Formats: sequence, C-alpha cells, structure tokens
Amino acid sequence: MLKNVISGLLGLFLVFSCPAQNKIVSTKSADSNSKPRLVVGIVIDQMRYDYLTRFYNKYGEGGFKRMMNEGFNCKNNHYNYVPTYTGPGHASIYTGTTPKYHGIIANDWYDKEIKKSVYCTGDDSMKSVGTNTEDGQMSPHRMKTTTFPDENRLFTQMRGKTVGISIKDRGAILPAGHTANAAYWFYGKDKGYFISSTFYMDTLPNWVNEFNNSNVVASYLKPWNTLYNIETYTESGNDLNDFEGGFKGKETASFPYDLNVLKEKNGGFDILKATAYGNSIIADFAIAALNGEQLGQDNMTDVLAVSFSSTDYVGHNFGVNSKEIEDTYIRLDKDLERLFKALDTQVGKGNYTVFLTADHAAVEVPSYLQSVKIPAGYIDSKAQKNRFTEFMEIKFGTSDLIENVSNNQVFLNRAKIEELDLDLDDVQEALVNEIIMYPNIDKAYTATAMSSQEFNTGIEALLQKGFNQKRSGDVLFVYDPAFISYGKTGSTHGTGLNYDTHVPLFFFGKGIKHGQTLQKTEVTDIAPTMSALLGISFPNGAIGQPLEFVLD
Ligand SMILES: [Zn+2]
Repeated sequence: MLKNVISGLLGLFLVFSCPAQNKIVSTKSADSNSKPRLVVGIVIDQMRYDYLTRFYNKYGEGGFKRMMNEGFNCKNNHYNYVPTYTGPGHASIYTGTTPKYHGIIANDWYDKEIKKSVYCTGDDSMKSVGTNTEDGQMSPHRMKTTTFPDENRLFTQMRGKTVGISIKDRGAILPAGHTANAAYWFYGKDKGYFISSTFYMDTLPNWVNEFNNSNVVASYLKPWNTLYNIETYTESGNDLNDFEGGFKGKETASFPYDLNVLKEKNGGFDILKATAYGNSIIADFAIAALNGEQLGQDNMTDVLAVSFSSTDYVGHNFGVNSKEIEDTYIRLDKDLERLFKALDTQVGKGNYTVFLTADHAAVEVPSYLQSVKIPAGYIDSKAQKNRFTEFMEIKFGTSDLIENVSNNQVFLNRAKIEELDLDLDDVQEALVNEIIMYPNIDKAYTATAMSSQEFNTGIEALLQKGFNQKRSGDVLFVYDPAFISYGKTGSTHGTGLNYDTHVPLFFFGKGIKHGQTLQKTEVTDIAPTMSALLGISFPNGAIGQPLEFVLD
C-alpha cells in the first residue's frame, strides 16, 4: 500500500513537473546568449519541392542533404496567396504577410493612380551605384510593411546589419527591407558587375569593387556541360525535345553550351543569369560579403539575405523536366555546400542559423503535359483582352471601359464609369458573368466580393490574401489548371495550385531542432519563426505563426 502511495505521489509529481520542464525549454531561445550571430536567409527562385526528392540521389552530403540531416525539413510548405511571382514571394517570406498587407501584388502592376505600369522595386528618385544605366534606380518603397531584418535593426539600435544579395534586383531589395545597410544585384550586359542604389550608399564599398574588378564573373564564360555524365541523369526528360527554348545562336536546346561563343547573341554577361553558373556567382559573392561586410562577427545578430535567381531563368527557358534544370540543381547543391563551409569557418559552426525556401514553384511545360494526356494548354491573352473589350462595348456602348488587363486582373476605367453614371458593382458583376463562360477561364470574382466577405479556404482565400484593396484590379480571374499565358516552351508560375505553391522549407543551425514534418506550414510562418528565434518584434504586418516545433 505504501508503494502505491509513493507511486501515486510520484505520478502527481511528474504531472506537475512536466509543464515546468516545458517552460524551461521554451524560454531558452529568448536568452540573448543563444541567439545566432548571423541569420542567413536563402531563397531559391522557382524551386519546386520535388526537386529535393527527384534529384535526391544526385546530391552530396554538404548541401541540401546537410539541411535534411542536421536541420528541420518542413515538407508540406506552401504559398497561401495568388499570384506566386518573385516580387510578392520575396516580400512575403521576409514580412510574414501577403500582398493584401505588404502591397507587392506582382512584379509589375498597373498603378491605378498614375495610370501606368510600375515595377515592384523601381524608384526614379534614386540613382544607380556602380553603373551609369538606370538599373540601380531601385528601392523597397512600394513594400508597405517591415521585414524581420527591419525589426532586427530596430531591436539592435541599428547595430545588427542587413545585407541582401541576388542576381535579380527585387530578390535582393525586398528581403533586406527598408533599413538595410546594403543590397547588391547583378548587372550583366558588357560588364558582369554587382551594383546597388543610392537608397543604400553613394559608392560601392572596396570589397565589391575588388570583386567586380576580379576575374571571377568572367571565368564562368566557359562551356556549360553536365557536371556528371548526362547518361546518368535519369530523373529528367530527354535532352532533345520539343518543350525547351534554348539560347540564340545554337540550334538545339541541348548540352553542351559554349557560353563564351553564345554570349554575343544572348546579352553578353547576361547569359550567365540563365545558366547554373549564375548560382555559383551568387555563392562567390555571398562568401565575399561575409568578410567584406564583417557579418556574424559579434553578438549583435546580422542578417544576410541571399537569393539564387538562375534557377528561375533556367526553368523559364528549359522547363522543370529538363536536363538543364537537373544539372542546375546538382550544381546548386555544390554551391550551397561551399556557402555552408564558408559559414562554418568564417562565422563558426553553431553561431549561425539558416533557412532555405523558394519564392514560388512552377508548372510542368503544358505542351509536355498534353503529350502525356494531362489536361493543359495555352491562353492567347491578347485575343482574350479584345474579347473582354468587345463585350463591354456591346453591353455598355463604349469601348474604353477596360483600362488594363494584367496579372489575371481587369482594371476598369473608373472615370468613364462615373461619366456614364454606371454602377461600379454592376459593371464588375457583368464582366464576371460574361468571362466565366469563356473556355479555360475556371473562376472569376469581383473586387467587391474580395473586399466585402472573408474567405477561409480554397482558391477564394488565396486570391483574397493576394488582393490589395488599393492596388488590385476590379475583376480577378483564374485559368484552368496547367493553362498558361506563355510561349510553348519552358515553364512559368503564378497560380494558387500545388505545382506553384509547394516549395521547400528548411531551417538549420543555431536554435533549430533536427526533424521533419508533413504538417502544413505556410511561407508567412517563416518571418515570425525567425522573430521568435531572435526574440524580436514580429514584422508589423505579419499574419503567420512561429513554427514552435522547429525551435530548440
Ligand atoms: Zn519566374
């Protein structure tokens, strides 16, 4: 009996002691000593989740597999809004919110106020740094909310640094945020330089000039052949097929590509952007930045945002099932290994935390899907716009009611609607009822519907999270699955379907558990998770949840 009492008391003790134990574990990450010296955010432009599994046997131990073996793998991570493009993707990863709040509704969009198309990071009030062209006139001014690196800057009294690096300007600028010390992106053409904007600095720092004046970039103007014997690339389609674009000056889209010869007809150094070597250049530059910007050298956490864009250019050109994509990922895996090794030696193992994700994924080339009997196809968007306009003319007696059609949205001519004394809701509704009858338009909604009710699930919820009341159009439409407005070769992206939304998400390094989950996570969870790790405020518009199970 005494034994029973003791075991009963022991049971009670265990019951009461468990929550206390949990508490000790969960407060650990708030301790300033446990903060990483450097957070490295890695975005792989257009990376589908299945590139991890499809090319798994081709990867080495130090890149993607190192993240699998040491870090946390969120295997069911998705975009939670439409459109899945580069600008919105990078903004959402780092702000923890969606276009509804951060305002980056596309890469380019029609600005209703000034009545012309604007670029997400274009800023005429800035000057280029490192080039005399307009390519540096950039800033994040159109992004309305803060990024987690912004919150880290505020928290550390601007002592923790932020640096953004990418081939694409928007891939460097949006992640780094409003308070960044620097963002650098690639300028190809006749130079092959990294440049910046007066938003950050007046002149390039010495280490960037040194990099630009070195032979590093030019050394990649060499033949691009597969890293391993092409016969072993059994995870992708035939090298010669009807679904790939290729380079000007070479008849077939097949290996090898002599970049030094092809550069002339393909934009000079710009050809490197669309090859696996563009990723190697970014890895080289990011490694140079560790020392050049003195990142992760003290207890004030710095943030390095690196975006590999060449994966996107290769996907657009050759499609997601190409040998070129397979080789690009095999080589990217090696570039990641180099970057992680540099972090180990320059910042120190256990002193840094990495996350890796993508800004969107991509569809299989529709003409390839058709060849294997999967419903897919192409939309002639110009003909479609004409049809929209014709309908409006018949219905309302005027041809200029449609001001712009872009990013699967129709912008109506508000002034004309007022002038004709029409009801905006009626015009939106009439257009929705008309276009939903067109072939390959699967869904259509009015802006009024988007802003007057709340959708919790399905495509309506994704459209709503991508809908910004001030910036978005009057009518939104969705094509049938795997129907794209694009050329017959190569892949693209933009929808709310799994082929565009499902992207990798890894965390690894300081403060991160080892494990994996199939539980659904969303891209907007990343910034709150990093904020929780650092013990800083969440970005001001963040809607995601910290992923508690990845934090140590
Ligand atoms: Zn793209």
